[in-house]
Amino acid sequence: MQVRDGYDVVVVGGGTSGVAAAIAAARTGANTLLIERVGALGGQMNVSGPPGFAYANLYNERHERIIGGIITETHERLLREGHAIPHMEPDFRGWYTFAYVDPDWWGLLMFEMMQENNVKLLLHSLAVDVVKVGAAVKGVVVENVSGRQMILGKVTIDCTGEGEIAARAGAPYEILPRDQMEPHSLSFTADGVDWDKVLKYIKDNPQEFEFERFQENTRHQWTYEQLVERIRKVDSIAEFGEVMGYRSLKMKGLETGEWHGYSGVGFFLIPREGGVIQAHFQHSSQVGNCDATSVDDLTFGEIECRRQIVIAWKFIKKYLPGFEKAYITRVCPEMRIREGRRILGDYVLKGEDVVEERKFPDVIGKSAFPAGAVHVVGPGTLGTMKPPDVPRAGGSHDIPYRCLVPRDIENMLVAGKAVSAYREAYQRFLMQTMVTGQAAGVAAALSAKQNITPRMLEADVSELQRILAAQGAILTGTH
Ligand SMILES: Cc1cc2nc3c(=O)[nH]c(=O)nc-3n(C[C@H](O)[C@H](O)[C@H](O)COP(=O)(O)OP(=O)(O)OC[C@H]3O[C@@H](n4cnc5c(N)ncnc54)[C@H](O)[C@@H]3O)c2cc1C
Repeated sequence: MQVRDGYDVVVVGGGTSGVAAAIAAARTGANTLLIERVGALGGQMNVSGPPGFAYANLYNERHERIIGGIITETHERLLREGHAIPHMEPDFRGWYTFAYVDPDWWGLLMFEMMQENNVKLLLHSLAVDVVKVGAAVKGVVVENVSGRQMILGKVTIDCTGEGEIAARAGAPYEILPRDQMEPHSLSFTADGVDWDKVLKYIKDNPQEFEFERFQENTRHQWTYEQLVERIRKVDSIAEFGEVMGYRSLKMKGLETGEWHGYSGVGFFLIPREGGVIQAHFQHSSQVGNCDATSVDDLTFGEIECRRQIVIAWKFIKKYLPGFEKAYITRVCPEMRIREGRRILGDYVLKGEDVVEERKFPDVIGKSAFPAGAVHVVGPGTLGTMKPPDVPRAGGSHDIPYRCLVPRDIENMLVAGKAVSAYREAYQRFLMQTMVTGQAAGVAAALSAKQNITPRMLEADVSELQRILAAQGAILTGTH
């Protein structure tokens, strides 16, 4: 077997967590290799994405900035080039704030950033095994068109989204039974929408939409009438970020069998070049009872999502005002996974840590996003959601470094969706994946430089925190 050796840091998975990890490791001086299964970088952000509101809640409810670093750098760069819209905090959306980027330009920028930072890439390569000596991970085995190769490095970071590599290395994990897991979705985009007509319908029929959902957990507690008054003042469809509801149309579709009933009706709004807004449907197919660690379930999910999309699109074109002449521009190549493994680390984030806004001495980043949401999906459930928990006083909670260090194995870190959290603290959003990715990258580079394991770094995180802060991460403050 061919051996590639000499890396300080090997990152497996080039989604949002993986690119942040690779850039951060390289900037900390590590000889870094990023391995990705497909030919593009971005994962659920833009390959199986494009996402709804990218970069949500970089501020907490008190409007304090709580997230910085590589995620804001990418937003600012795309903004300068006209491939993003500025951070928005529309008051009618309660405490949700968001900053959209054009997902395809985001993907192109990632390649630029890999070159700028001298990150080596190994694309079209699926990691299929780990190389281990005792408890110590020495690297991974990949399969690609050139055959099988052994990739060796001082520290390996699992950014596969599903904790695939950490699990193969023997790290313990939790996963819900498939009937309790969040559903997965296949996204698609559409153009040819008459947005003036869409906006008019929303303003004329506010009761049709789920705007009151934004009021849950917020402090200003508007009456419904105040909310409607505010909605009528919206003059750009982009301000909504997300449009969900079409209640009576949906009920009619359910009665006639023209709506499939596995999800609600609605879409997200993403920016494209020249100020164009595009409709992005990420919830129009939802497949429950689908275990992301079972290939048979994944195969079933891909088939079922496509069946639901065909039904949904016929309904959307027939009933949603403004969509009469719309056309699908892209169906993403694969279903996006909402929930899979959570790798258990030296600390497991708890629901009360989120709600009580707990701070930790080994903080590597913060989050103000709701945690623990549980969708339930079956025929006719419309994807009912258990309301998530939010930080109680409008602040944020810390993410401790120990959540990135998997138990029982050495030389490995986990970043992204699979970091160590109990189900009620589970948050799987883009900003947290980039925050944990950046921290894992710096920690891996430091461990390699100091010839220690990432676990040994737990004893003194001061240098890790110093470098993260110098790279723009937000670790301290009143939030
Ligand atoms: C339907 C849906 C809607 C969402 N909506 C939003 C939203 O509106 N806002 C938001 O912020 N977040 C949203 N999210 C969540 C967000 O998209 C994900 O949490 C995030 O993209 C996960 O990033 P990641 O880096 O952990 O994993 P991923 O993006 O999944 O990246 C993992 C990467 O690893 C690669 N990989 C996997 N296994 C291997 C292997 N063995 N070898 C080599 N490469 C491998 C994959 O190809 C992929 O590129 C949504 C998720 C879903 C499913």
